[in-house]
Amino acid sequence: MIDWNRGLAFDRDHLWHPYSNLPAHYPVWPVASAQGVRLKLADERELIDGMASWWCAIHGYNHPRLNAAVEAQLGKMAHVMFGGLTHEPAIELGERLVNLTPTPLDKVFLCDSGSVAVEVALKMALQYWQARGNSGKKRFLALRGGYHGDTLGAMTVCDPVTGMHHLFSDFLPRQLFAPHPSCGFHDPWDPEAIQPLAELLERRHHELAAVILEPIVQGAGGMRFYHPEYLKAVRQLCDEYEVLLIADEIATGFGRTGRLFACQHADIAPDILCVGKAITGGYLTLAATLTTPNIAETIGQGEAGCFMHGPTFMANPLACAVASASIDLLLESDWQSRVKRIETGLRRGLAPCAELASVKEVRVLGAIGVVEMREPVDLAVITPSFVDAGVWLRPFGKLVYTMPAYIMNDRELEFSTSAIRQVIESESKR
Ligand SMILES: *Cc1c(COP(=O)(O)O)cnc(C)c1O
Repeated sequence: MIDWNRGLAFDRDHLWHPYSNLPAHYPVWPVASAQGVRLKLADERELIDGMASWWCAIHGYNHPRLNAAVEAQLGKMAHVMFGGLTHEPAIELGERLVNLTPTPLDKVFLCDSGSVAVEVALKMALQYWQARGNSGKKRFLALRGGYHGDTLGAMTVCDPVTGMHHLFSDFLPRQLFAPHPSCGFHDPWDPEAIQPLAELLERRHHELAAVILEPIVQGAGGMRFYHPEYLKAVRQLCDEYEVLLIADEIATGFGRTGRLFACQHADIAPDILCVGKAITGGYLTLAATLTTPNIAETIGQGEAGCFMHGPTFMANPLACAVASASIDLLLESDWQSRVKRIETGLRRGLAPCAELASVKEVRVLGAIGVVEMREPVDLAVITPSFVDAGVWLRPFGKLVYTMPAYIMNDRELEFSTSAIRQVIESESKR
């Protein structure tokens, strides 16, 4: 049994956590185990988890079907290299991804994390235009307020302000940015919203390999929901100006927004699609980049003669096996009504927050609930308050948000939304 006093002191001095410094300035809470929508802390307290471990654990923790899938695969092999070898879990998962995703996307690259899936997507677009002899097309157009991961290539297409591009300005290639879509998901469609992006494409398309965006929901860059007509218009403009469209569905994929993939809100298919996060139900790190037969074949005819990427843990069998099990579990469940029910519960539970003077806006789409504050929250104060209220939430900036597992029941949902209301209310009185 670990001595937690010693363990936490070590953690504080030696272990980096996401976006943190050493020695650490913020506390962390030790988790002993997790079950369903509950995290059990080392001191036996239980928290209702509103984060699904950053969009991933859509079926809840410690799920018997997912555990069984990992255990069955573990008995055969945990890993084997994918260079020159293949295996059943990769083929099984590949078939599922090809069947599930919008139609022309049937070539699959299995990689080890979301950021790598984005790197792979950017490289696919660059190699595609090179192979077509159009080497002038080597920049990307992204949206302000976007988030695409933390590796260097992905960073270049994140929001330049929240992504802190100035820190790396001598090092990062400069991309083009359109303002974040001004027309919200639930607003009446305003065609003016697409003008800034349309103008950038008109002027700069000959330099552009691809537009990259998060369809419908901009996640870690601001938790904003934009209009499906915007996405439709981007697709049309990309076709018109011969620029590829990369859809980063790493956060939105696998039902989170109420459709299996957020692109389906607009009935469009991208040329390149990134999925990750919920793909393994939160069990292991895995992501995938899918593209069309035309792009895959064109890349193969380029100078390199192949697509230039191949991670050590590509198509890890444990991760692939649990991903197939998670996808089956999702499709067998009535996930649409579950997500709808959560959407209703979040709306009902969070709406009263909008009355508070400290709150700017409340937004809900699918199983995502966002309370945007007027001022940034103080993590060092608000996180302990949430823990005391019995919930796990991890706000950032001005955003208090939740994206629970699809299995969260109405009682648990009501418990977490009322904890959000109470904590925000008492914080604003401080
Ligand atoms: C989380 C996320 C990524 C990065 O995925 P990692 O697995 O953290 O590397 C990329 N794009 C989007 C939209 C994300 O939400």
